[in-house]
This record gives sequence, structure tokens and C-alpha cells, in this order.
Amino acid sequence: MQHVTLNNGLRMPVLGFGVYQIPAEQTERAVFEALAAGYRLLDTAAAYGNEEAVGRAIRAAGIPREELFVTTKLWVQDAPAEANTRRAFETSLRKLGLDHVDLYLMHQPFGDVYGQWRAMEALNREGLAKAVGVANFHPDRLLDLIFNNEITPAVNQIETHVFYQRTADQDLMRRYGVQHQSWGGFAEGRNGLFTNPVLARIGEAHGKSVAQVALRWLIQREVVTIPKSVNPDRMAQNFDVFDFELTDDQMAAVAALDTGETLFFDHHDPEMVAWLSKRRLDG
Ligand code: NAP
Repeated sequence: MQHVTLNNGLRMPVLGFGVYQIPAEQTERAVFEALAAGYRLLDTAAAYGNEEAVGRAIRAAGIPREELFVTTKLWVQDAPAEANTRRAFETSLRKLGLDHVDLYLMHQPFGDVYGQWRAMEALNREGLAKAVGVANFHPDRLLDLIFNNEITPAVNQIETHVFYQRTADQDLMRRYGVQHQSWGGFAEGRNGLFTNPVLARIGEAHGKSVAQVALRWLIQREVVTIPKSVNPDRMAQNFDVFDFELTDDQMAAVAALDTGETLFFDHHDPEMVAWLSKRRLDG
């Protein structure tokens, strides 16, 4: 497995396993199988409702804790944000059955972002979250957070796939030492990703699937990726992307697929801001 080194020296695998939209009752099996397939980075969130199942799979797999890289995420908190963030973190830790996480992400750039971030900085200083970062931050919000706080986020996890490539965001993140992590690396199959002829042609040249080309392209761009699958064959396929390399021409052919537009939701859209800001988790 290749790793990237985050801005605080922590090493993170370039490929992990995401568990969004895996129902809680299927998650333990899926994560157990992913760990058996070789994945060591697990990406969950309080909002996914499956942290307990991830924790059970970790215990069942028996892999030494130091070999795992576990990420979870903070949902938007009511005031007082600092106290509530700590409480939310403690709930996640208890559900996961862990004494620390490797990466704690602010899931959305909404609510009392500053209060939430100060609490996350404290968790980082105390060693309870080995690294802290954000998700879904556009460059304006990211720079505001960086310039007006002490700790620069180690990671920004944003929608990134062949149709929404985020190259300008990545340039900016590189400049400030923030690791780019992709969510929705397959765009959940939208826009015909799995049958895209450009990706299929490149795959044929390497004896690889479209999915493998999509992941390999992200990894060659130094974007950390966390594909989700509940299917063990696809888990193995998605992990098998380190024995081939896209040529410069192939990288350029994929670059031409960029539409510059989200296929999911725009964090600048007022309706989406209102919806995400009002949503609260129970318990
Ligand atoms: P994704 O990884 O882009 O796509 C998952 C879909 O692709 C599933 O339907 C899966 O079906 C299918 N698939 C997986 N491997 C395949 C293969 N080799 N061939 C054909 N189909 C395949 O979607 P995602 O789950 O939205 O994103 C990945 C992770 O990013 C999430 O799980 C989560 O951890 C994270 N995420 C974060 C945020 C955020 O706001 N921070 C938002 C969304 C996601 P099967 O399961 O049936 O194989």
C-alpha cells in the first residue's frame, strides 16, 4: 500500500474503504470483508449510523490497531459548539469502541464552524484524534479556517471523480498543505461512469476495469480515495490498482472528461445549505 504523509507527519493509506449508505446491519460483514481484502483505511461518520458496526468488524478482524487508519466525522452541532463537539466525538469513539481515531473530519462547513474546529483542535492536541480535517469545504471557507485558526486541516474530503476533477481546489490545497481526499470516486456510478468509453478503452489497454482506471487516475493525481462496495469481488478489484500506471496520454484523456460540475450537491446552493444546516442527528 502506498501512503501519503499528512501535514502533521501522520501517514495515511492512499486507498481506503468507505461505508456511506451501507445499512448498519450489513456494515459489520462488509468491513470485515474489506479488512480481509487488505484495506486498512476505514471511512465512516456519525451521520452514517454505522459506527458501532464498523467497531464490531474491527474487533472481529483482530488486526493490530496501529495498522488501521480509522476516520469518522462530526455532524453539525447546536450551540455551545465546543462542548457539543466533544460530546459528539466521545459518542463516536464509544460506538467505534476505540480510544482514538486517526482522522476526525468536520463533515459540513456549516454551523458554528469555529467553535467546532476549536474543539477538534483540542482533541488533536490531546491525541484523541491523530489528525483533524474537514470535508466539503470550498476554497473560500477552507482559507478562512486556515488563516483564522491554529491548526491547518490535514485533509479536505470533497466530491472528486472523473466528471468533477477539482484541479484548482487541489492546487490550492497543495499550496496550504491540505491533503485532497476524494469522496464519490465513482460518482456512485452516475453519468454512466462504469460504462464510459474513454475509461473502458484505457482499461482494455491494461487489462483493467473501468472502476480500476477511475481509482488509478485519482491515485496518480495524489488524491486519496475511499471507494465503497458491499460486493467482495468488487472490493478486491478496487484494491488491485497498484500494478499498472496510466500514461501521460491516458491521464490527459481522462482530464478531458471534467465537467467542472457537481453530480451530487452544491455547498454554495442556499437550499442545500439550509437543508444540511437544519439536519440534526439523534443520539
Ligand atoms: P462511490 O464509491 O463513488 O460508489 C459506490 C457505488 O459504486 C456503489 O453503488 C457500489 O456498488 C458501486 N461499485 C463499487 N465498486 C464497483 C466496481 N468495481 N464496479 C462496479 N460498481 C462498483 O460512492 P460513495 O460511497 O458515495 O463514496 C465513497 C465514500 O466516500 C463513502 O462510502 C463515504 O465513506 C465517503 N463519502 C463522504 C461524503 C462526505 O460528505 N464527506 C459524501 C459521500 C461519500 P456495490 O456496493 O454494490 O459494489
